[in-house]
Amino acid sequence: MAAHCSVVEAAVAGPEELVCEQGRNRKAVLCQRCGSRVLLPGAATFTRRELFLPAMKKKTALVGDNDLEGDVLQDHWLVDDMFSFENVGFTKDVGNIKFLICADCEIGPIGWHCLDDKKSFYVALDRVSHE
Ligand SMILES: [Zn+2]
Repeated sequence: MAAHCSVVEAAVAGPEELVCEQGRNRKAVLCQRCGSRVLLPGAATFTRRELFLPAMKKKTALVGDNDLEGDVLQDHWLVDDMFSFENVGFTKDVGNIKFLICADCEIGPIGWHCLDDKKSFYVALDRVSHE
């Protein structure tokens, strides 16, 4: 399935199902491919910010690939401490950006981190599973 052929209306399974009253994640955040646990429930805060993430690829294909195929994503889990993650990997720096990938199967990017802001790690809701 191509990355851009998402026809499911996101509003139906709206964030209320995933976000508690305190704005935190109700469910664990998992890798879509291998089910590796990225975040425990309550570890992240829901936030809206437009971030560009390249299309999902294996890490080896991601690094050094400078084509701009990908998605602008808005809904993210914001984590302010790297040690809040259960499992996460990073790509090599792309400028001052690191992309987050699954620590186990290395699929990604599932999220975005700017080296200028050490307390902001973004995980895109569209790039992970919730359980
Ligand atoms: Zn994985």
